[in-house]
Amino acid sequence: MAQIDGLPPLSDVIRDHELSAKKSLGQNFLLDLNLTAKIARQAGDLTGCDVLEVGPGPGGLTRGLLAEGARRVLAVEKDPRCLPALAEISAAYPGQLHVIEGDALEINPLEHLTPPIRVAANLPYNVGTELLVRWLTPKDWPPFWQSLTLMFQREVAERIVAAPGSKKYGRLALLAQWRADARIVMELPPEAFVPAPKVHSAVVHLTALEKPRFEADAAVLSRVVGAAFNQRRKMLRAALKVMGPEIEDHLRAAGIPPTERAEQVSLEAFCALAREIARS
Ligand code: SAM
Repeated sequence: MAQIDGLPPLSDVIRDHELSAKKSLGQNFLLDLNLTAKIARQAGDLTGCDVLEVGPGPGGLTRGLLAEGARRVLAVEKDPRCLPALAEISAAYPGQLHVIEGDALEINPLEHLTPPIRVAANLPYNVGTELLVRWLTPKDWPPFWQSLTLMFQREVAERIVAAPGSKKYGRLALLAQWRADARIVMELPPEAFVPAPKVHSAVVHLTALEKPRFEADAAVLSRVVGAAFNQRRKMLRAALKVMGPEIEDHLRAAGIPPTERAEQVSLEAFCALAREIARS
C-alpha cells in the first residue's frame, strides 16, 4: 500500500506526528496496511460510493478505502492531533478526502455526502454501539447508508448476529436483523492493534434491507426489546410491566405466552408485540 499511494508506513506517521494512543479516545490503531486494505474490501464495491469513516486516527483504513476507489471519504475524527497526518492523505488523493474534526455523534452525514453512502470504521469501542443503534433506528427506512462495515469487540459482534435461544441474543441482534442482513466477515486478535486491547475484535458487515423484515414502529420496538432484555431472566409479563397495565393482553394478542422469556421470542413476534402496543 505504501507503494500504491506513495505515503509513508503508518509506524512512521505515528512517530512523525507523535500520535501516542490515548485510552480516553478508545485509540487502538491498525498499522498493517494489508490488513486495513482487507477491511476496506469487506465494505463492498466502493467505486461510485461516498464513504463515511468514523475515527480515522492516523488513517490506515482511510488509505484502504481511498485505494479501493471510494468516490469521496468523509472522515470524522475527534482527536486534533491526527489532522496533519490526514492532511497528507488528502494531498495524495486530491478532492477525495474530506476531514472533519469533531464528534461523530454530532455529525449529520447527509450534509456532507451524496448517496449511495457506505459506512466503514474501526470504531472507538466506547461509541461504537451507540452509533450502531442510532444508524439502525431512524424513523424512516431505508436509511442514509447502504452498508455498514464496522469493527467491534468480538463479544459485541457476536451479539449483533446472534439467533434466538442463544445467550447473546438481545436488543442488538433484534435491531440489526430487523432492518439489515448482518454477518461477521473478519476476526482479529489483540496483536493486530497498537496498543493491543485486552479483547479479540471482529468486523461486522451489515447491508440495509429495502424495507424492514416485519412492520413495526422503530421507537416502540426499540423500547419493547430494551425492556424485555433489561431483565432477560424474568417472564415477559414481569419484564414488560413498564410498558403499561395491559401488557399481558398485548402479549397474548401478539401470540406470545406471557410466561415466555425474551431470549425465546423471535423477531417476528417482537414486531407483532410492538404493533399491538402502538395500536393501543
Ligand atoms: N481508524 C483508526 C485505525 O484503524 O487505526 C483508529 C481507530 S481507534 C480504535 C478509534 C479512533 O476514533 C481514534 O482515532 C479516536 O480518536 C477516534 N474517536 C474516538 N471517539 C470519537 C468520536 N466520538 N467521534 C469521532 N472520532 C472519535
